[in-house]
Amino acid sequence: MSKAVNVEDIFAKNVFTIGKMKEYLPKEVFDEVMTIRSQGGELPLHTADVVANAMKDWAVENGATHFTHWFQPLTGVTAEKHDAFIKHPDEEGRCLLEFSGKELIKGESDASSFPSGGLRATFEARGYTAWDMTSPAFLKEDAIGVILCIPTAFCSYKGEALDMKTPLLRSMEAINTQSLRLLRLFGNTTSTKVTPSVGPEQEYFLVDRNKYLKREDLIFAGRTLFGAPAPKGQELDDHYYGNIQERIGGFMHDLNIELWKLGVTAKTQHNEVAPAQHELAPIYETANVAMDHNQLVMEIMKKVATRHDLACLLHEKPFAGVNGSGKHNNWSLNTDDGINLLDPGDSPNGNLQFLLVLSCIVKAVDVHADLLRQSASCVGNDLRLGGSEAPPAVISVFLGEQLEDIVRQIIEFGEASNLKENVTIRTGVSALPDFEIDATDRNRTSPFAFTGNKFEFRTVGSSDSIGSPNITINTIVAEAFSEACDIIESAEDKKSAIHDVITDNFTAHQRVIFSGDGYSEGWRKEAARRGLPCLESMVDAIDTLNDEKTARLFEKFSIFTKAELGSRAEILYETYVKTINIEANTMIDIVSRQIIPAVSGYSGRLADTVNNMLQAGVKPMVQMGLLNDVNTQLTEVDEALVKLKFLLENVSEIGDIKEKAYYFKDNIIPAMAKLRKPVDNLETIVDKRTWPLPSYADLMFEV
Ligand code: ADP
Ligand code: MG
Repeated sequence: MSKAVNVEDIFAKNVFTIGKMKEYLPKEVFDEVMTIRSQGGELPLHTADVVANAMKDWAVENGATHFTHWFQPLTGVTAEKHDAFIKHPDEEGRCLLEFSGKELIKGESDASSFPSGGLRATFEARGYTAWDMTSPAFLKEDAIGVILCIPTAFCSYKGEALDMKTPLLRSMEAINTQSLRLLRLFGNTTSTKVTPSVGPEQEYFLVDRNKYLKREDLIFAGRTLFGAPAPKGQELDDHYYGNIQERIGGFMHDLNIELWKLGVTAKTQHNEVAPAQHELAPIYETANVAMDHNQLVMEIMKKVATRHDLACLLHEKPFAGVNGSGKHNNWSLNTDDGINLLDPGDSPNGNLQFLLVLSCIVKAVDVHADLLRQSASCVGNDLRLGGSEAPPAVISVFLGEQLEDIVRQIIEFGEASNLKENVTIRTGVSALPDFEIDATDRNRTSPFAFTGNKFEFRTVGSSDSIGSPNITINTIVAEAFSEACDIIESAEDKKSAIHDVITDNFTAHQRVIFSGDGYSEGWRKEAARRGLPCLESMVDAIDTLNDEKTARLFEKFSIFTKAELGSRAEILYETYVKTINIEANTMIDIVSRQIIPAVSGYSGRLADTVNNMLQAGVKPMVQMGLLNDVNTQLTEVDEALVKLKFLLENVSEIGDIKEKAYYFKDNIIPAMAKLRKPVDNLETIVDKRTWPLPSYADLMFEV
């Protein structure tokens, strides 16, 4: 039995919350911090000193020995470098603790080993981290002790963004400004701030750690590079929402406690579709905090799993043949006085503000479908997207029956006078309440679906940062809002201008709206006919960052310069090449040092048996057949191995990084598949006791 927990007592125990700031700071300093937090600006050094000191006192009272600027470089994971609070001992040898305002608000690090995509030469390797005051400081507790973590943004010596945080904050400013403009058109004078709210649902797999450690592919690539299907997959749908096993329950319990202490609102937990797959969803919060918290969720999942002798796999496709993992990015826009711009209200057909917002989002997604696709691409996601389980590689919008009907009326008649009513389902049991079918329904195959009062971007990969998708959504919607406001603000008759913009947006961009089955072959053809981009691979999507259209978008709102976009493209090509290279080398290693020796040993024993039987005067029919079979497959393994090695050797001839990425996609990946096939065939015929790797059944069904 797990220990009882009082959530109210432990929630945010390790966070320097606003409440704690109020308690530890003099009133004027607290007020100053709050003003800068909400309105922006820089903290003066003398104020920062007071805040830093208070933060240190609180941290030390809670056992902290070090502090760190905690940031998100473009490696996809977080980075930290710890410094103890100690300062030079005094004459009597006493060591006092210190944490200055300067150390709090700005850090300088030799950041030459972080990816910069050519933005930063090693001779100007300095990088700066700066405190993101809108994301609270927190304490990380583990074997290393207690560390005070300051969420920070990371940029180069010249101010170019080298992380996810900086552009995300810039995009939040853009959407704030443009949303306020839009609200003012409707006479709103009370809202002073609009922030994107994000709730990322996180999928993951848990496997036994001892089995995990027996698989180099899981260790180095995060996914299985070999593996014959288990006799049972997910066909019975008995895992989805299934009863949670004790061992997994113990993990979830500890995970929740760790997350709650960090102020992460872990809310929902359940088993997912694939065996050994699970999900955690937090309550939505401001985009930058949601991003920080999602990074913590991923990190803590891995840590807690180890404590339970489990390994947490965040890869998008750890196992072939069963569902992969994604991250549903739920997104909405909320004002500081409680209005959700995506709330359709009771009569969406007459809600002009909502319709304008909706039409702008539809336009944004259509105009920048390629960029949106790019924003959710990572190497692992290539194995998941389009696999009849996750959204297709074509980006489309799902609105649900009621809204789609409204859009149709607007396009046809310029307004929507009819509202399709919700259907009430009668349960027919007096003790059960009747309920209304949600007008927005569910369409699990859609990449960008309206779900009640938010959009759910389902394309994002499970291991990826939610930074890129949210930077992109915020900015493309800001652009559409700004273009709408330009027209409406300068019109004589504002009301009719609003009507016109709504109609024009829906009319011009209706091709991106799709409510059918996103997995079907028919949709691929239809999407092509509609002219929607279909970017199959991450490699195909990267160049979108170098588009004129993309540069115009991001430069307009000062989010990325052309150079920053170019650097990000380069980093992505590099990441792709390095990742596939690691996978290919891991395959070579496993085959050369584990599979071939094991299978050779097995066929040697088979040959002995054959000889013994012949000597004994018995015909070794089955054994001969098997021996031949094993030998044929092993020969195929060897040929494929030689080919893969040869192709890898040729990589050094290619200088251009984009060309290299395509070489990996078009040559190395097919060669890897060729190697996998005979190995997986062998797994199904070779004696299980001699097979060197835990099988799919071992990994997914014996957790
Ligand atoms: P599901 O999609 O699995 O049915 P929900 O839609 O209730 O579950 O919530 C999924 C996620 O969406 C949660 O993280 C939740 O906090 C978040 N969410 C709910 N409402 C909003 C909103 N208005 N804006 C952003 N995220 C939201
Ligand atoms: Mg959802």
